[in-house]
Amino acid sequence: MKDRIHEELAGLKDKLIQLRRDFHQHPELGLEETRTAEVVADHLRRMGLTVKTGVGRTGVVGLLQGKGPGKTLMLRADMDALPLEEENQVPYRSQSPGVMHACGHDGHMAILLAVAEVLSAHRHEIPGRIKFVFQPGEEGFAGARLMIEDGVLQEPAVDAALGLHLTNVLPLGLMAAGRGPVMASMDSFTIKLKGKGAHAAQANLGVDAVVMGSQVVGALQTLASREAPPTTPLVVHVGSVHAGSAFNIVAETAELKGTVRTFDETLRASMPERLNRLVGGIASAMRGSHELDYQFGYPALVNAESMTRLVEEAIVEIMGAQAYAKMPPRMASEDMAFFQQEVPGCFFFVGAANPKKGLDTPNHNPRFDFDEDALVLGAQAMARAAWNFLSANP
Ligand SMILES: [Zn+2]
Ligand SMILES: [Zn+2]
Repeated sequence: MKDRIHEELAGLKDKLIQLRRDFHQHPELGLEETRTAEVVADHLRRMGLTVKTGVGRTGVVGLLQGKGPGKTLMLRADMDALPLEEENQVPYRSQSPGVMHACGHDGHMAILLAVAEVLSAHRHEIPGRIKFVFQPGEEGFAGARLMIEDGVLQEPAVDAALGLHLTNVLPLGLMAAGRGPVMASMDSFTIKLKGKGAHAAQANLGVDAVVMGSQVVGALQTLASREAPPTTPLVVHVGSVHAGSAFNIVAETAELKGTVRTFDETLRASMPERLNRLVGGIASAMRGSHELDYQFGYPALVNAESMTRLVEEAIVEIMGAQAYAKMPPRMASEDMAFFQQEVPGCFFFVGAANPKKGLDTPNHNPRFDFDEDALVLGAQAMARAAWNFLSANP
């Protein structure tokens, strides 16, 4: 049966490409994926699955009821595009100005629809249930959390979850996963510094928010170098500074925006206090004041040992040991992490770069595109891992 599923997915190559290109031409931003959701729901209904729409705003869930009691496995794809103007001159170029599928989510949806199509044709031989979850708003909107709040992990209760990501970090033919914490948490902050305006020639009569801000940017680096254990990765990054209006004015206010990333939940929880203390100390030392707005975003993504082994074995089974690489932890983040906080899961990477075809621009770039041969491979890996999980737990 496994081999038949594998062959049937290979036979869907043209359809996979067609689906991916249709999504690519019609990209939609996070939580606005209405056309995308309609297309997905329509395909799932035609496969005879029980379909729910509007789960987490624009999310779609298709339930495959197999045979026997078994377990419920969730397979997840994300649906949103990015606010980028596509620079690729391809026939399937984005038709929405300023919006582009530059992270491969178009491919993720095509892969999951192909897996759903083949597995639903074999539903009488599949133990348990599969929830095909099409999630909105991965790119900063926490769509996964919205779906959880709308009960996506209940009725029937999900036992485990799998998700994948196409990436040009890896060449076509290579797939990778890592055990434990593999992607960092992603939080963000805005610091408002308040001083007092004055003429540059009489700076002593003012309180300079630019000088305060530059001290703050430097001092924040000590959180990683002097407050986190040296063996614990921590990013504290200021990516935007706005202050001042003219060369001869003492700026009254400054606004700094940045991000904090780590794999350690205890360290993560302590960061607002650390920023507040450091920034407050500098501001008051310089006769100014501050406000900190700290937003917790995505948690760290943790791959469960059992599910990672399942994925690794599936990849080795279908492609050989040379096709599997251990993914080192990365400070990038993924809201699949919310699902994997609730149930054991594995999020793995599917190599999609092909430098010979000029397809090696990184994700999130206006010239991002990938080798579409990765679609069949990704679908085969996902389907094999799903089959192995459900048949081991009849
Ligand atoms: Zn992305
Ligand atoms: Zn992505």
